[in-house]
Amino acid sequence: MKVNRLIYRSGLTCLLVLFFCLLSFKALGAEGRPKNIILMIVDGCGAEQYTLARWVKGAALSFEAHLTGAVRTFNTDSVVTDSAPAASAHATGVRTSDKFISMGPHGKETPGLPASPPDLRLKPMATILEGARLKGMASGIVCTSRVTHATPAAFMAHTTSRDMEDMIMEQAVYQGVDIVLGGGMRHLLPKAKGGSRADGEDLSAVLAGRGYSIINTKSDLDTFRQGKAFGLFAGSHMEAELDRPVFAPDQPTLAEMTEKAIEILSSSPNGFFLMVEASEVDWACHANDPAHLIGDLLMLDKAADIALKFAERDGNTLLIVVSDHNTGGMSIGNRGTGRTYSKMTPGELIDPLKKMRLTASGIWRKAGGSKGRLKELLNQYWGIDPSNEEMKRINDLASDYGSYPATAIGEVLSATRTALGWTTHGHTGGDVPLFAYGPSRPKGVLDAPALGSLMAEALGLDLKALTERLFADAEETLKGFKVELDRGEKMNPVLRVKAKDIAASIPIDKNILKIGSEDILLEGVAVHVEESGKTYIPRQAIEAIKHLPAAK
Ligand SMILES: [Zn+2]
Repeated sequence: MKVNRLIYRSGLTCLLVLFFCLLSFKALGAEGRPKNIILMIVDGCGAEQYTLARWVKGAALSFEAHLTGAVRTFNTDSVVTDSAPAASAHATGVRTSDKFISMGPHGKETPGLPASPPDLRLKPMATILEGARLKGMASGIVCTSRVTHATPAAFMAHTTSRDMEDMIMEQAVYQGVDIVLGGGMRHLLPKAKGGSRADGEDLSAVLAGRGYSIINTKSDLDTFRQGKAFGLFAGSHMEAELDRPVFAPDQPTLAEMTEKAIEILSSSPNGFFLMVEASEVDWACHANDPAHLIGDLLMLDKAADIALKFAERDGNTLLIVVSDHNTGGMSIGNRGTGRTYSKMTPGELIDPLKKMRLTASGIWRKAGGSKGRLKELLNQYWGIDPSNEEMKRINDLASDYGSYPATAIGEVLSATRTALGWTTHGHTGGDVPLFAYGPSRPKGVLDAPALGSLMAEALGLDLKALTERLFADAEETLKGFKVELDRGEKMNPVLRVKAKDIAASIPIDKNILKIGSEDILLEGVAVHVEESGKTYIPRQAIEAIKHLPAAK
């Protein structure tokens, strides 16, 4: 009897323990997975730039308390990465080749760097944005560059060159992203409508047909309340933060675009993925321009503050602030402070920088090629009266720098008039700081692709499986059909699939399957890879073609 009761009691205890284990496991699961991800990429920024921004701000940056680790940035070709493979690593969880936009590596090995995965060679790879969209989540892109520039492109498109911006815009338009805010109107419109699309297509008509609002000004963005939108506020890139009031006051700021994107996307019942890029921190560092750097980095700080406050209120949002690589090799301290650094006051560092009210390229543009005017403007906007020697060096260097003459201003005057040093006009290879807040936040020192994989896993996405679902080799999977790429219409190739009584076609870079007079909208875009001659289409298209009555 007693023994039975004991067994009964211990059995009950076991059940209770199991019950509470399950309960707590479930709670942990709910807590462990975010509903939303906001990924903020500070292009070309290292630890030293954040420190500088903190000194100039006079307070901690909004996100710096959430430092959780660092990211190793190299790609398959180089220890110093460019933005395209760097952003592709975040977007797909795979390390890839120089200039590639979410496309598997070319396969040429670089001694000393990890071998690239052979099964993904020159193959489009599903991105976290595509995965989020297929899961029914809302998706958004915010940047201050053209939305077709390397970093935003890596989330929305697949090409073997970051320079194929017409193609990138086309894929972005047919991708079904809910909110796209930034610059780059020229890649949306044909020449006849003031754009620069070489294929003559008017993608604004496609957007309108798919229910998008097209927004061009800050005031239109302010009044936009719901639905899908492409907000393109400049033909090319948007203005630098310091230059915006002077050259384009009707453009919104990065913080305003971030706030609007969060406002719209957060109404999605299934959560959202948003990528925000402070695009121009990188260009500021390429140009060694402290004014441009501080203006845009402090604006990123405001945008991150908005994102962090949303994440804190929401409790179910993973916020990540990270860079794709460092640029410029900026240091607090330069050749001129080699003997005096141990007595550097905050004023010595900050005061010359606080006088800078326009970027070097803004000053150069305003000068309009006049050397005398350039000297006056440096006085007016940077509080500097350059010596004759400094002006001579600026003008000599400017002619060496071709399309980026203003680079000479930052290079010469940073060294002589500030306490900042720079080592290069290119990128640098150091690890970059990782800031993260919210459920599933990544910690430690991670490879860039591992950070991409962790974000996808946090949303419960299997990007490998999604790559198989979105990008099937058309020729290989449609055996028994005649499959060929029709280049009849220049710049707008179409994949044609034929059998006895079947004629289907799939235009490249779009998400449409045409059978007879019927258009079937696909869950992803068709991608043709020139280097391999292969065309990739969603498995959904393969199934639709194989199940046509005439195909059976
Ligand atoms: Zn970059």
